[in-house]
Amino acid sequence: MHAKKSLGQNFLVGTHYPERILASVAPQSSETIIEIGPGHGALTELLIATQANIIAVELDRDLIPELQARFGSAPNFRLIEGDALAVNFGELLQPATAARVVANLPYYISTAILQRLIEQRAHIREMTLMLQREVVERIVARPGGKEYGYLAALVQFFCETKKLFDVPPGAFRPIPKVTSSIVQLRVREQTVAAVADEPFFLALLSSIFAQRRKTLWNNLRAAKGKFNLDDLQLRAALTAANIDAQRRAETLTLEETAQLSNQLWELT
Ligand code: SAM
Repeated sequence: MHAKKSLGQNFLVGTHYPERILASVAPQSSETIIEIGPGHGALTELLIATQANIIAVELDRDLIPELQARFGSAPNFRLIEGDALAVNFGELLQPATAARVVANLPYYISTAILQRLIEQRAHIREMTLMLQREVVERIVARPGGKEYGYLAALVQFFCETKKLFDVPPGAFRPIPKVTSSIVQLRVREQTVAAVADEPFFLALLSSIFAQRRKTLWNNLRAAKGKFNLDDLQLRAALTAANIDAQRRAETLTLEETAQLSNQLWELT
């Protein structure tokens, strides 16, 4: 199989893992499923057979003719040539309003695609994603632990997370160097805590985790220009949120981070 490294192509071979992924998703015939990066269609074929409406988004135009030839005549299949980082899921889904997403993602876009899917979460109920095992461990980590950081905070604020199972390198061609894992993210009806301004909260999240070795105080000070806040205001917000400035961001619960965000937002 010809594979493009630049597009992170490692294709599932055999039926065992595609079938396990399908069983984890268990599509209903009335729902819409978006598959990102169908590749040569290992999972697509199984998805189509469930009778659910399948919309596949593939960036590599060289794969389009093969996918179209194999599945184009299925009435419940639609193929979009495009970049999953750029598509508008709301428009894509019409006439449905929400869907579940399945993807075996190229590793180099994992963070970007997670950010994008979370941004578009009004149209997404659940995501079943194959990612590098280390990335999945970072997504499901709990505050205080070594793995906990920006990715966990971001994803867990908006989704319930569950690691399902590992997929060994031998399940793919070409064989990757790393083990993969499947993680399921269920979009919460409400975020873990209420935030006054979501873009501000997201910007704060990335700032407080900018330098892992630094204290919360030092990360906040490094970002104060971005937020147009001075030291006094930072101190006031930390005190009001009852958070010790010498802590590290990875020890903060999401509720505490939301509190801090709301206090800072009031001062901007
Ligand atoms: N799902 C197939 C499988 O499991 O065998 C292929 C998985 S392969 C790791 C990733 C797929 O995503 C490739 O087909 C690649 O061309 C596609 N891809 C890469 N970047 C993409 C993007 N930004 N938007 C949509 N598809 C993308």
